[in-house]
Amino acid sequence: MLKIENLRVAVEEGGEIVKGLDLEVGRGEIHAIMGPNGSGKSTLANALMGHPRYEVTGGSVTFEGEDLLELEPDERARLGVFMAFQYPSEVPGVSVANFLRTAVNSVREEELSAMEMYRLLQEKMRVMQIDPSFAERYLNEGFSGGEKKRNEILQLLMLQPKLAILDETDSGLDIDALQVVARGVNEMRGPEFSAIVITHYSRILRYIEPDYVHVMLDGRIVTSGGKELADELEAKGYDWVRQEFGAGT
Ligand code: ADP
Ligand code: MG
Ligand code: MG
Repeated sequence: MLKIENLRVAVEEGGEIVKGLDLEVGRGEIHAIMGPNGSGKSTLANALMGHPRYEVTGGSVTFEGEDLLELEPDERARLGVFMAFQYPSEVPGVSVANFLRTAVNSVREEELSAMEMYRLLQEKMRVMQIDPSFAERYLNEGFSGGEKKRNEILQLLMLQPKLAILDETDSGLDIDALQVVARGVNEMRGPEFSAIVITHYSRILRYIEPDYVHVMLDGRIVTSGGKELADELEAKGYDWVRQEFGAGT
C-alpha cells in the first residue's frame, strides 16, 4: 500500500535528515516508528505529507502504486493519506464543528450537507465519548493536550483515511491525550485502515498494539520487529540502540 524506498529528505537549515529510509506498510497494518529525539521521525512524517519546508532529495514513495511525491498535500489527502492538521494557534470565531466541516469537505468530491455533517459529527463524538458541547468550542481556545488530541482524532474518524500518519512525539504526552489517540486508532482499526504511529516513548503502544515496530536512528530504520521490540526498547533504552546500530558499528 505504502512503499518507501531509499528516501532522503533535507531541510534548509539542517541539511540531510532522512538518509536512505525504507519502509513498506500493507493494508490493515499498524506500524510504530520509535527512535530517540532528533532521529528524523517528524521529518519523515512531514515529507510524507508534502510539507513545503522538507525537500525530498532522493528515493521514492508510492501509495497504492501512485507516486506520492509528485502530488500536492491536498491531493495526498484526497487519496486517503491522513496527517492530523495541527492548527498552531487559537482561531477566533472558528468552532471545532466549522473546522471539521472544512477538513471533511476538502477531501471529498461531493460536499456533505449541513445535516449529514451534523449527523456524522454527532456519531463520531458518541463513539469517542466526547461531550457534544466540544463541537461548539472555539478552535484551540484554552484547549488542553487531551482536547487538542480529541480534535485531531475526530478529524481522523470523520475523514476515514486509508492511511494515517500520527506523530505523537512532541505533543500531549499526558495519559489522557495518549488514550484519546489510542481509542481513535483502535476504532479505525480494520482491514481497510493502516497507520504509522510515530512515538518517542513506548507508552502509547500499551494502548495501541502495533503489528510492526521500527526503530529509527540518524535518519534510517535500523531495526524492525514485532511489538516485543517496543518492550525491549523500554527496558534497554535508546543507548542500547545507539551502541548496537549507531554510526561506526
Ligand atoms: P524527531 O522527530 O525524531 O525528534 P526531527 O525530524 O524533528 O526528529 O528532527 C531531526 C533533526 O532535524 C533535528 O536535528 C532537527 O533539529 C532537524 N530539523 C527538523 N526539522 C527542521 C527544520 N524545519 N529546520 C531545521 N532543522 C530541522
Ligand atoms: Mg523531536
Ligand atoms: Mg518529532
